[in-house]
Amino acid sequence: MRLTVIGTGYLGATHAACMAELGHEVIGLDVDAGKVAALRAGRVPFHEPRLAEILARHTASGRLRFTTSYEEAGAFGQVHFVCVGTPQRRDGDAADLAYVEDAFAAVARHARKGALLVGKSTVPVGTAARLAERHPVEIAWNPEFLREGFAVQDTLRPDRLVFGVRTARAERLLRSVYAPVLATGTPLVVTDFATAELVKTAANSFLATKISFVNAMAEVCEAAGGNVRALAEALGHDDRIGRAYLRAGVGFGGGCLPKDIRAFAHRAAELGVDLGFLRQVDAINMRRRDRVVDLARELCGGGVLGARVAVLGAAFKPDSDDVRDSPALNVAARLELEGADVTVYDPEAMDNARKAFPLLGYALSAEEALRGAELVLLLTEWRQFREIDPVWAAGLVARPRIVDGRGVLDAERWTAAGWCFRALGGPPPG
Ligand code: NAD
Repeated sequence: MRLTVIGTGYLGATHAACMAELGHEVIGLDVDAGKVAALRAGRVPFHEPRLAEILARHTASGRLRFTTSYEEAGAFGQVHFVCVGTPQRRDGDAADLAYVEDAFAAVARHARKGALLVGKSTVPVGTAARLAERHPVEIAWNPEFLREGFAVQDTLRPDRLVFGVRTARAERLLRSVYAPVLATGTPLVVTDFATAELVKTAANSFLATKISFVNAMAEVCEAAGGNVRALAEALGHDDRIGRAYLRAGVGFGGGCLPKDIRAFAHRAAELGVDLGFLRQVDAINMRRRDRVVDLARELCGGGVLGARVAVLGAAFKPDSDDVRDSPALNVAARLELEGADVTVYDPEAMDNARKAFPLLGYALSAEEALRGAELVLLLTEWRQFREIDPVWAAGLVARPRIVDGRGVLDAERWTAAGWCFRALGGPPPG
């Protein structure tokens, strides 16, 4: 089939390349000419494992092209996937729908007769119905659940597909697009617009709640002298609870969970439903960043003024270079404001981190960041940080003091190597 993907950021670039991988002819469109030029040259403008190879293969074969022209995309596509951003509005918690509205208006203006416009962006419930009223085109909603770092695998082998449709024709078209994925037995839920929109915000709210639940348990463990790692392990053995998303740490960030739970609570309130618990989920999450700052002060003898602090991690999570609302950079910036001499290192997110926080210090390797540090904070759990040898690291730093902000290091090993070791949610200092 001939598809277009409107908006070629993390979601859209992945979707476009994976649709070509499934055998479709694809045009990716973005208003950012720099991004389009990079993608045309077969370069992925962000870090995503496996994506570069698929992109290069299909740009070379001609099956995947990129443009900034809505005329070209409109004349080409039978199905248009809208993947533009829906960030938090500057004036509050609601989602900013300006990009989605612009994109739908532009595609609707240029689309061929009979084309299907499919929203993939995460939007407040009611958006699809409003767009359908406004534009004389057929619309469907097909929310996306991919995780950065696993985006290719999640697109080609998703846990499920959700189609929000109003007609059998729209369902048929989407079934054809995803035929190779459905053929592997991927579960499909076909539903109405509102439910399709809600599945996405409900899923993100559930995941955020699970993370904040275990982080709230970490707070109680800190107060009571318990150990949240042992607690989470014991909870996770219960199949009804499950192990995933139960690791206590500095909390979630990124371009999705924080803004999605805020927008969802806001939208629910507009509809007269009180999802106040999501505000608690958000508050617990933000308190974990405060806790790391407190621990840093405590380990430095009451304040960080003048202390050399190595921050390991800048991306909001490993296997990504995305620094949107990154807990690591938020903590690093706060310590810098308190007068610490902060040096950040991240294997992939250095360029984005420098752009977002130009005043922080940056190192070219973990070794360089550690050298001479009086305090180490592990804030993004990249594998290379999890595998650091505490004896080797102790030989580099000025003072062996570390906060494991992600609950991934072996406390006993680090303590045995001479480190003053602290983690969120215990164990308490011995
Ligand atoms: P992003 O900021 O990386 O990409 C958005 C892209 O849209 C940008 O390249 C921007 O230039 C482009 N754009 C904006 N207005 C446009 C217009 N009118 N026409 C064409 N292009 C336009 O954002 P993202 O992370 O890819 O997220 C996109 C959407 O997908 C959001 O709603 C997000 O919540 C959702 N989502 C993201 C992920 C993820 O892991 N990143 C996962 C699932 C869902």
